[in-house]
Amino acid sequence: MKTIALKFGGTSMADANQIRKVTAIIKQSQHRRYIVVSAPGKRSSDDIKVTDLLYQCYNAAVKGEDFEPSLLQIRERFEEIIRDLELEFDIDSEIETIRKHLQGDPEKDYMASRGEYLSAKVFACHLGYKFIDAADYIHFNENGSLNFQKTKEDLKKVLTVTFRAVLPGFYGSLPGGKIHTFSRGGSDVTGSIVARAVHADIYENWTDVSGMLAADPRIVENPRQIRIITYRELRELSYMGATVLHEDAVFPVQQANISINIRNTNDPEDPGTLIIPHLPENADPGSVTGIAGHKGFSSILIEKDLMNSEVGFTAKVLNIIASHGLSFEHLPSGIDTMSLILRTEDLAPERDQVLAEIQEAVQPDTLYVEDGIALIAVVGQGMAYYKGIAAKIFQAITDANVNIRMIDQGSSELNIIIGVAEEDYEAAIRSIYAEVIEKK
Ligand code: ASP
Repeated sequence: MKTIALKFGGTSMADANQIRKVTAIIKQSQHRRYIVVSAPGKRSSDDIKVTDLLYQCYNAAVKGEDFEPSLLQIRERFEEIIRDLELEFDIDSEIETIRKHLQGDPEKDYMASRGEYLSAKVFACHLGYKFIDAADYIHFNENGSLNFQKTKEDLKKVLTVTFRAVLPGFYGSLPGGKIHTFSRGGSDVTGSIVARAVHADIYENWTDVSGMLAADPRIVENPRQIRIITYRELRELSYMGATVLHEDAVFPVQQANISINIRNTNDPEDPGTLIIPHLPENADPGSVTGIAGHKGFSSILIEKDLMNSEVGFTAKVLNIIASHGLSFEHLPSGIDTMSLILRTEDLAPERDQVLAEIQEAVQPDTLYVEDGIALIAVVGQGMAYYKGIAAKIFQAITDANVNIRMIDQGSSELNIIIGVAEEDYEAAIRSIYAEVIEKK
């Protein structure tokens, strides 16, 4: 029998109507056995997530202010779900436990975790499945990092003897037993860990969009959906701002070659986006998977005659950058020129000092900073070793009447990064999209 691990996000668990959709999805396949849930999220754009209400309670309590109005809202959210689903569930005693905690010495992570805790408990009651508390099986180290080995072993033990279960996402516990959470959106990580522990055939991550889009819909009208993407491509696109998953949700399943399928609870027939370990053999050669980008970069330009023959020139410059705790994004260079691309906001506080030190260390002929650069990443593993893609991209940028400030191609030929002026960013993306994705 196959094993599918699933995670349902906040909008999927937002109210009884959504929970009924989730139930239908689970019941559709007997292989869908291990379910991780988020706390109830927003029912509409002006709604408040239960997790945010819990933080509000905590903040009020530590300031000695009245937390009851927020706690009442939390109670009402769950009460409504329980009533609409006609469940026998004692929410009053659960709320009372939270109230007692708030009246004592409240802990932030414990409070934040209660949304997932209650969501999973209520949902397990609705499905008639076992509720397994993440606090007992997801282990963090003292420093807050995940104790992956112990977590994997313990979860595996309990899940191999539990045929179907519901688990709360987002939290686990520290060595002494205190509750600790992942960063926001962390239920994705729990889902991934569960998928790994049970050696799932697939990890389905159900959300409110049908997967990843090939470009930002605020820039490109109706961009195509990405059907299949490799982990490496996902990382490149996410780094440049196209996010569908918590960053840390990738490593547990990637290590075990388990694919992730991003699906839409509101459109369950849509196959969504499949994130796979390796490019399939029949992949379309020369295809571009997606385009992402970011504004807000600066370039430090350094010119010096005979730079190329000066041993250690680059090392001296990079040492200065590192000694200020800065990381650079790209390092395009010529024979007698080099430039370093950094995030403007990172450079800003160190800027004068960094420039003074570079001046002193390498005595360049020219040294200046250019701001207002946007980077565009064109990503596709199928681009590697394929002729003509770069030409098409540059032609598209030229057609948009945009000047290219920088070009960088990763050594694996998985991506081409182009730097343009911020004001040209949108036009360049639209034109590249039309040329290399829409026309394909
Ligand atoms: N409920 C948490 C949050 O709002 C975690 C999650 O939904 O993944 O961030």
